[in-house]
Amino acid sequence: MLPRLIRFAVVVSLTFVCRVAFAQRLSPLTSAPDWARLEAFQNTITRAEFLRLLDKVYAPGGAAAGVIEVRENEAVILKTLTPPEMFVLRFAKAAKSAKAPPRNWRAASALPRAKANRPLEGVKLALDPGHIGGDWALLEGRSFQRGKDTPVREGEMTLLVAKLVAPKLRALGAEVSFVRDANVPASPFTVDALRPAARKEMQILGIAASRENYDGVHDPQKGDTVQWQAERLFYRVAEIHERARRVREKIRPDLTVCIHFNGTDWRDPENPDFAEKEDLHVMVNGCFSADELRFDDQRFEMLLRLLTRSHSEELAAAAPMAKALAAATGLPPFTYFGGNAVRAGSDTYVWARNLLANRIFECPVVYLEPYCMNTELTYARIQAGDYEGEREVAGKMRRSIFREYADGIVAGLRDHYRTTRSAKK
Ligand SMILES: [Zn+2]
Repeated sequence: MLPRLIRFAVVVSLTFVCRVAFAQRLSPLTSAPDWARLEAFQNTITRAEFLRLLDKVYAPGGAAAGVIEVRENEAVILKTLTPPEMFVLRFAKAAKSAKAPPRNWRAASALPRAKANRPLEGVKLALDPGHIGGDWALLEGRSFQRGKDTPVREGEMTLLVAKLVAPKLRALGAEVSFVRDANVPASPFTVDALRPAARKEMQILGIAASRENYDGVHDPQKGDTVQWQAERLFYRVAEIHERARRVREKIRPDLTVCIHFNGTDWRDPENPDFAEKEDLHVMVNGCFSADELRFDDQRFEMLLRLLTRSHSEELAAAAPMAKALAAATGLPPFTYFGGNAVRAGSDTYVWARNLLANRIFECPVVYLEPYCMNTELTYARIQAGDYEGEREVAGKMRRSIFREYADGIVAGLRDHYRTTRSAKK
């Protein structure tokens, strides 16, 4: 009888003949994973810990069924689905005898004690201001404007917050690097250079290209054009891959903080709808779906995160950061109702979700999503710009929204490192 995983793969091949390419495929602009890297994780994790992380954090609801089989002494992992090739990960017999997993970052708990006023002494932090902004803001769908008001561009706001945060973290002892420090793309690609890759993706997804280019943002068929798909690859995929490369090869931080402002669909970027609600949530990586785990690269990246135990560090940082941001902003927690996120730990603000940035940056990542850029109040605060002290905005004395956000980030990181490092003997 065929082993269960092979039987699964054969069934996949036979059942989804027309989707074989999909079953084997890699995410766009991704090369085949180097599975040999996982050899370094032999005997580094017990079966119980592997199962806990798989079931509770990374692949809840049995999402890994058919691609990862947990046996008595090992996990059998499909490297490719068709033809099925296996990687065997041997479990440590007991936590005490488990070898330390190799990783290129340090948990707060592994750092030496620090002075109370320098809790971030020696910590390497990367700040990733979300999106690009500037001349690319409209193209990346992160710009809207009402009349002659200042355009709201998320990529510029996130960079402003990062620039307010950095000196405060340095004053607490941290070594701070920016994943980007200007409103220009990190990626070396142009949209046009990505057109062949866009055509290939559209072919795989079965999208028939209606035209090469779309006709302005109101073109109802823009989603079916090569230009639209190439732009998405440019600002979403190529950009984040280059940021990941900088994080992995140059910065090598202990933790990356991805800074974003939340928003809802404003429909018409020239006449945006106001939203009613605003809230806060903080994300850690996890909650891969069964479909996502059919991608060889996503399965590999998920295992890399699981085996390096990124989750415990992400959760340890996310909870105090959520607490500090909630205190700074007064925002209530956001709730996911779909299947793409699960609660991480007991904090109502912290969710596990599989995003490209928190998946491929090879270090713990905390991803922040406060406010809603298109509520009337937040919009007014953004229009007021950055300033010191308080000003009357929307009928009340208020701090700059950017400083409020920055102070929440700094307080959260300070509390995370102070609590963990002062508890050390
Ligand atoms: Zn964002």
